[in-house]
Amino acid sequence: MVFRKTLRLGMAVFLSLLVMLSTSCSQFLTVGVSSTGSSTVSISETGSELQIYIIDVGNADSILVKNGEKSLLIDAGENGDGDDVVNFLRRHGIDSLDYAVATHPDADHVGGMDVVIDEIPVGRFIMSIMPESITPTTRTYLDLLEALDRNDVDVTEAEPGDRYTLGGAEFTILGPIGEFNSTNNMSVVCRVDYGKCRFLFMGDAEKQAENAFIQNGTDLRADFIKLGHHGSRSSSQDFFLKTVNPVYAAISCGVSNRYGHPHAETLQVLKKMNITYYRTDLNGTIRVISDGSNIAITTEKE
Ligand SMILES: [Zn+2]
Repeated sequence: MVFRKTLRLGMAVFLSLLVMLSTSCSQFLTVGVSSTGSSTVSISETGSELQIYIIDVGNADSILVKNGEKSLLIDAGENGDGDDVVNFLRRHGIDSLDYAVATHPDADHVGGMDVVIDEIPVGRFIMSIMPESITPTTRTYLDLLEALDRNDVDVTEAEPGDRYTLGGAEFTILGPIGEFNSTNNMSVVCRVDYGKCRFLFMGDAEKQAENAFIQNGTDLRADFIKLGHHGSRSSSQDFFLKTVNPVYAAISCGVSNRYGHPHAETLQVLKKMNITYYRTDLNGTIRVISDGSNIAITTEKE
């Protein structure tokens, strides 16, 4: 594919990049109150920070979350991205993953996961179990199940409320809440908390799932959100984003992708709400760091 980019990004690339913006976390602000008035600060890195990489895998998802020696991978790109994701992980010092999450069984999320599982030991593998009516029978999904089996990796079902420790950080499974009739809405949604800062990862969750979170009263507040479904208009309703109340958003999407992601409607909502957003199609891999009080974001490309 013309759009696919190689992931030849080293730390050196990031070190040469401009810190685009950094902001204090807003976890303790009342929901609905804008936090964009926080002072701009920079983070001098000591190695103890939470690091998040929204890896540029085209119109697919792959996200690395790292704190100290502990690591979490959320999705692994499309079929054909597996080697790039493995190389990215190794370049960032990951020889084993403490956790891997497959948000849902679509090829743009689990396509490369079989290769990752074969190459890098995974401590705990978390995924949602699909209702029988939508359980996939695709080669991609079978490849994933076979890789889990081949490597004796147990599967933990994503249960809302489950919490896991990731070094000095913690992540909580928020969804899926109940059963939906689409794999997108069955996405594992999780929130990483580090100090006062919160980071929300939506997988491909769409409106139905968003509505269920709101109805359920799930605590969605976060300083940063990886938007659902590649910035599609099927997700990111304005009242949902108002509840999350993020300062930053990231969209994982491919250059000139055939779905038109991100959709103009989504970008309008972000602009209206003054949410600073980054796109992997324009910015390349997005690196987010936090010291627990502040967030700073750098990108591969301006
Ligand atoms: Zn997707």
